Amino acid sequence: MKEVRCIICEKEGYGIIIRGMLICNNCEEKVITCDVNSDFYEFYKNKLKEKIYKKKLG
Ligand SMILES: [Zn+2]
Repeated sequence: MKEVRCIICEKEGYGIIIRGMLICNNCEEKVITCDVNSDFYEFYKNKLKEKIYKKKLG
């Protein structure tokens, strides 16, 4: 089976899968607890947009 890497930290792990993309437990927890104005939150949002929502458009 193909190894699954988190789209945020790019490490292998377990967590939630969105449209076939992994967001690991660490990153999920981090984004839940971090401030919405923090750099990490921005980074996370951008990654999601880039990796998940763009893919949808082809
Ligand atoms: Zn991660």
